[in-house]
Amino acid sequence: MTSLAILGSTGSIGRSALDVVRLHAERFQVKALAAGHFSELLADQVREFSPEIAAVKDPAGAKELQKLFPSLTVRSGSEGVASLGCEGDIVLLAVVGVAGLQPALNAVKSKKRLAIATKEALVSGGELIMAEAKRSGAEILPVDSEHSAIFQCLAANGRKAPEEIAKLIITASGGPFRGKSAEYLENVTPEEALAHPVWRMGKKISVDSATMMNKGLEVIEASRLYNVPGEKIKVLIHPQSIVHSLVEFVDGAQLAQLSLPDMRLAIQYALTFPERTKSPLRSLNLSEVGKLEFFPPDLVNFPSLELAYRALKEGGVAPAVLSGANERAVGDFLEGRISFNQIPRFVERKLDAAPRIPKPTLEDIIMADSFARERA
Ligand code: MG
Repeated sequence: MTSLAILGSTGSIGRSALDVVRLHAERFQVKALAAGHFSELLADQVREFSPEIAAVKDPAGAKELQKLFPSLTVRSGSEGVASLGCEGDIVLLAVVGVAGLQPALNAVKSKKRLAIATKEALVSGGELIMAEAKRSGAEILPVDSEHSAIFQCLAANGRKAPEEIAKLIITASGGPFRGKSAEYLENVTPEEALAHPVWRMGKKISVDSATMMNKGLEVIEASRLYNVPGEKIKVLIHPQSIVHSLVEFVDGAQLAQLSLPDMRLAIQYALTFPERTKSPLRSLNLSEVGKLEFFPPDLVNFPSLELAYRALKEGGVAPAVLSGANERAVGDFLEGRISFNQIPRFVERKLDAAPRIPKPTLEDIIMADSFARERA
C-alpha cells in the first residue's frame, strides 16, 4: 500500500485525487488530509477515507473537526498544514498559492515523492525546492496537465539528456476571452472570467486562465521542473485542449501527449509513475474530435504572459513578486475592487518596484511575497 498525504483535499484537484484513490483502493491509502477551512465535504472525506491525521488552516475549523472525530489527530494553522508535507509516501500538494511553499519544502526535505499541483510554490520558490530535492533525492512529479505531458514526452524519449531538448511547447486553451480586445476585457465580470470553456477549476486558476497568467506561471514552472531557460519555452494556443504539451528535440522531432482533458490522468500518473494503470478516462477518438487548431498567443491584449517571461529572466525574487502580486490582484478582481485589465497593470507596477535579490533565501521570498501583496 502506498500512503498519501493530500493537501488541499476539498479543492478541485484534491477531489479528483480522491476519485483516483477510490478507483485504486487496493493500492492507495489516505494517511493525511488538509484543507483551509472546515466543511461538510471535509468531514465526509474523513469519514470515507479514515486518515490518521487531518489539518485545517483555520483554527476554529480545526476545533470543529476535532469535535466530530475525537480520535483523529487534528492540527491547525499554516504550520499544521505544512507539517503534513512530512507524512505518507507521496505528498499531493494542491493548496492555492504561496501557502504551498513550506509544505513543498517539507516534502522534498523528507524525501517524499512530491506530486505538485501548486504552481505558485514552484514559481516563487522553485529554485529552493529543486535544490532541496537534488540534495535529498526526493522525486518531484508534476500534476499540472501541461507539465505532466512534458514529463511523459521526456520519459518517452527514454534518456535523461537535457542537451537533447530544443524546446518545450506548452499548450493553452486560450481561456474564455480568446480573441477579445482590450476594450472588451475592460468590462468583463468575475462570473464571465470564471466560465472556462474546457476545464472546471478553482476560482484563482480560472481567472489566471482568463488573463493568461496561468500560462505565464506554467512557463516558469516548466523552467524550474526541467531546468530549461525561458527562451526555449514556447506557448501555443490550442482551443480543443487535446494536445497537452509538446517537446521538440534537437533533431527536429516533436513528441506530444494527447488525451481528452481530465485532470485525473495527470494526478494518477504522478501517483503510479513509472507504471500506467487503468483510469476513468474515455478513450480519445481523433476522428470524433475532427480538427485540432493551433495559434500563436495574443501578447497585446493579454500582457500577463510577457510579464511572466520578464520575471523569469530577471530571476531572484521577481517570480515570487509576480505570483504574489497576481494572487492579490485576482482576489481584488473577484471582489469587484479592480477591473480585469488592472490585474496585469498591478503586477507590472510591483515588478517595476521589486527589490533585486539574486540568490534569495526562503525569508527573502516570503518578504517579497508580502511586498507584492501590499496595496499600491
Ligand atoms: Mg495547466
